[in-house]
Amino acid sequence: MLCSFCGKREPVFFRRYSGEKLCKPCFLSSIENKVRKTISKYGMFKIDDRIAVAVSGGKDSLSLLNILHKIEKKFPKASLFALTVNEGIANRSEEAVNNVKEACERLNIKYVVASFKEFYGFTMDEIVKKIKDKKGELTPCSYCGVLRRKIVNKVAKELGATKVATAHTLDDEVQTIFLNFIHGDIFRAFRVAPKLENETGMFIQRVKPLCEIPQEEIALYAYFKNIKFQSVECPYAHLALRNNIREFLNRLEYKYPGTKYTIYRSFEKIRPLLKTSVKTELKKCEICGEPSSKPICESCNMIRKLLNQKFL
Ligand code: SF4
Ligand code: ZN
Ligand code: ZN
Repeated sequence: MLCSFCGKREPVFFRRYSGEKLCKPCFLSSIENKVRKTISKYGMFKIDDRIAVAVSGGKDSLSLLNILHKIEKKFPKASLFALTVNEGIANRSEEAVNNVKEACERLNIKYVVASFKEFYGFTMDEIVKKIKDKKGELTPCSYCGVLRRKIVNKVAKELGATKVATAHTLDDEVQTIFLNFIHGDIFRAFRVAPKLENETGMFIQRVKPLCEIPQEEIALYAYFKNIKFQSVECPYAHLALRNNIREFLNRLEYKYPGTKYTIYRSFEKIRPLLKTSVKTELKKCEICGEPSSKPICESCNMIRKLLNQKFL
């Protein structure tokens, strides 16, 4: 049996949803080509964009950095840099930051590291200690996600970025669609998009070049490319509902290959309808000046709560 692409080498990967059997070089180029196609399909970049790549130090974001670096070399007017947020999780964040530094030095990419501690005065570990005893409190991941997004937007803006590229994969996107449904946040689900429009000009436009690639394939890409990535699992990850959704979707995908793509494509048809039903007017947060639909943004409210100040 030979590779379905080149017909020359032994396959190393069987793509169950398409029936393709791929050798290592054909697998790697299929991933890079798919990212190129996704970028052009959604018009993610302009020729002179300054791209901030949000790199956590995990396999997805380091793979994205490698692929975008390869693509960007062909566009001399474009530039990219890595932006990492150190959440302050013991035994984990340090390894993540080191992996990013190593990768950037090897690829000759500039990088910047911003931390929860500098920005908010708390590490993620300190935040978890504070929220631990509060009943009905949000999960650590809810805090972590909101606080990280704000830092990325703020720092990318300060450094003159015109786009923020994140490493959300097909799996992340489909999981988020389900999470929004489960939380009753159905109208927020329209944000699950390959390119988030920046209609107000207050956010830097976010793009997700890996959004049509399954997580399993990105993990294999990182492995074949010898990318050194985060080995320590986050101690708070098990508290997230997302984990159960991930397992459920993986079981479905195993039984019915292609399910994740089917859900994603169905949602692409629903998204425009959701979007027309949501009219959120963004203003500037009264505390930090960042965009918010309420007078005080979500992250400032979280910090006030941690400081036991009045929750607005
Ligand atoms: Fe943050 Fe949750 Fe990810 Fe841990 S698993 S880094 S708490 S979002
Ligand atoms: Zn081949
Ligand atoms: Zn704010």
